[in-house]
Amino acid sequence: MLALAAGIAAGAATPPARLLVHNATLITMEPSEPEPFVGYMVVGADGRISALGRGEPPAGTAAAATVDAREQVVMPGFLSGHSHLTSSVMRGINAGRELDGMIDFRPTFLDGRFYEEGDVGTFTLHGALDYLRNGITTAFNYPNRRCPPQYYNEAFRAEIASGQRFVYGYNVPDMPYEKARTDFLAFKAMTDTYRDHPSFLRLALAKNGHLGRVAGHSQFPTEVRIAKEFGLPLQVHFLESSFYQKQNRHDFQYIKDSGGLDVPLVFAHFVHADDRIIEESVKAGAVAIWNPLSNGRLASGLADIPKYLKAGLTVGMGLDGQNTADISNPFENMRMGLYNIRMKYERASVLGPRDVLHLHTLGTAQALGVADRVGSLKVGKYADFLIVDLTEPDVGPVYDLHGSLVFACSFSNIAQVYVGGETVVERGRLLKHDSVALGNDVRFRMTRNREKTTRLLSATTKP
Ligand SMILES: [Zn+2]
Repeated sequence: MLALAAGIAAGAATPPARLLVHNATLITMEPSEPEPFVGYMVVGADGRISALGRGEPPAGTAAAATVDAREQVVMPGFLSGHSHLTSSVMRGINAGRELDGMIDFRPTFLDGRFYEEGDVGTFTLHGALDYLRNGITTAFNYPNRRCPPQYYNEAFRAEIASGQRFVYGYNVPDMPYEKARTDFLAFKAMTDTYRDHPSFLRLALAKNGHLGRVAGHSQFPTEVRIAKEFGLPLQVHFLESSFYQKQNRHDFQYIKDSGGLDVPLVFAHFVHADDRIIEESVKAGAVAIWNPLSNGRLASGLADIPKYLKAGLTVGMGLDGQNTADISNPFENMRMGLYNIRMKYERASVLGPRDVLHLHTLGTAQALGVADRVGSLKVGKYADFLIVDLTEPDVGPVYDLHGSLVFACSFSNIAQVYVGGETVVERGRLLKHDSVALGNDVRFRMTRNREKTTRLLSATTKP
């Protein structure tokens, strides 16, 4: 049951509250509130939670809009700690390849070097909106490697236009340090003009290529140097490839020798870590992002998450790109990860529904350094949340809410997605974007790219 009603704010001086949600079954994900409870939440005009509590709101509480969330779950929006949103146009490709085959045999028309103006922005928007529809309200986004740097601005502006909150992972170009730093400064100056924009959570660096592979390896010290100078986190693909895992573990010494452990390091994937790497990473304050759907699709392997958590490692979760986790469904991601861990250990107590919910929300916010604003429902944080309806489609009687939510729900149970207390998705439908027009634009651009690369390639192979 959902009802909207106009309300009148108390007092003319303060702007009226934006939204009141009441009768909700709240899962705040705050460590101090492990059990769900029925209560209310008030969102201020700034899009942040101004009040939250058990039972009925205090008498006189009013807002511009009121939602009766009776028998519905209100939980924080999901976060993806590792994403490549432009790959939203690459779903289903390379079905029979592992990570290295995916990288080495990507169809030419998907190569960023052949993109035209507007392509990267359009593809990023397509990816970001796919995330929002699936209840992911914050993402750490990597721009495409091998895209000309001017397209980074397009990716950034598309993120702003999407309405999703984001951490932008700047991909340091393959250039000598001075030139790379100059390019970075130009990009940073552009992003600085958005410093106060609520969607832009922070700037970070995203490792240019995979350690352990030839491409991108030598650029690592430059990335570390820039990260250090500007106090930025550096996210790197590390210990992902099964084929290169031995080489990758060896690269840990290279990371140390390059000063990598002196900056806030975020290891994306971190599938094949040994005891020494785990211990030294924890000591250095490095964190990891687990991407079970992607790791399964690419046959990369299974990260030993219980072991990492026991060692004190901060772990978040991610959907990676849509070319490796083709459906950006966090419920599927949680189940994929949880079930595989239980298969490995042959013990259910090793990881539970609430654990993976934490990893995909607050855990990811902590790993990305943005838990002061997102990741849980708490006064002062942004009101980014989902209303999950367990009756439409009906999952049956609920005995254990965390169990029903993680084991029995999916994309189709997300009734609404809110960002900053505003509805952005209603029953799977985007409210602030024309998804049909966007889809047509994407198809037009991909057809054009395909024709263009076919033409270029046939021209170069002529005698
Ligand atoms: Zn990745």
